[in-house]
Amino acid sequence: MLVVTNSRTLQDLIERHKKEGRSIGFTPTMGALHKGHFSLIKRSIQDCDISICSIFVNPTQFNETTDLEKYPRTLEQDCLGLEEVGCDIVFVPSVEEIYPKEYNTSVNIDLRGLDKVMEGAHRPGHFAGVMQVVKLLVDITDCDRLYMGQKDFQQFTIIRHMLKQLKYDIELVVCPIQRAADGLAMSSRNKRLLPEIRSDANNIYNVLTEVKKRMQNESIPEIKQWARQALLIPGFRPEYFDIVDGYTLRDVEESTESDLIVACTAVWAAEVRLIDNMILKGHL
Ligand code: AMP
Repeated sequence: MLVVTNSRTLQDLIERHKKEGRSIGFTPTMGALHKGHFSLIKRSIQDCDISICSIFVNPTQFNETTDLEKYPRTLEQDCLGLEEVGCDIVFVPSVEEIYPKEYNTSVNIDLRGLDKVMEGAHRPGHFAGVMQVVKLLVDITDCDRLYMGQKDFQQFTIIRHMLKQLKYDIELVVCPIQRAADGLAMSSRNKRLLPEIRSDANNIYNVLTEVKKRMQNESIPEIKQWARQALLIPGFRPEYFDIVDGYTLRDVEESTESDLIVACTAVWAAEVRLIDNMILKGHL
């Protein structure tokens, strides 16, 4: 596996692979890799000739400096894991490499309100930062396929919209949420959970599972009310629990309103913010 820190070097390498007719799969990450990330890279290895993973803790998508500072960084271990799954290239750029001072690289497109709800409502500027970095990385890697997780459902929805608006010829592949044995969605931030909080964190998954069951015989407003109550666990603070149309991300009241309906939530587990979601109707 090659470890590359310079964009120009990576571009030259990719150009050579493309000239030889090889397809490129790209998985952007912020490192502290776990099974969730590896599932994306494994899928890329299955589908593509060359698989690239980037590890870049993107400062522009953090709306809280403490979250950025405390974000786990485990580069050495990440590289060992990537090597083991068979990743071809890992791209580890510096902040200056991605954001040269003289360039304005923000992405200006109409998101039709996709960034105004849920994560967007609680993390101002977050999706502007995500779009900026994904566009820059996709431009550098010139990938044929881009791999993202359903875990960040709103992020995936916004990137799908961005690729379409910018007319990029890239296949966006979404991979299912990988969970710990008790159901907690895997996340780099889980490392920061204290044991007494971690032991109750599976309740988020339990609530989502129960919500899906209740869809059969209760109304969506009733279910939302129940879920918001059920998430009030000592030590936990739910930020939102919404049931939305999976394309527009607007609230739905009736299950007939869309063929894709998703329950999405963010919960503070002591000092750590966790997100999770479950598809209640349809599939991605
Ligand atoms: P991150 O490093 O948190 O930016 O995540 C990089 C990619 O991995 C994103 O596309 C995430 O949605 C995906 N991802 C993170 N956690 C999981 C998980 N538990 N299951 C599947 N994909 C995940």
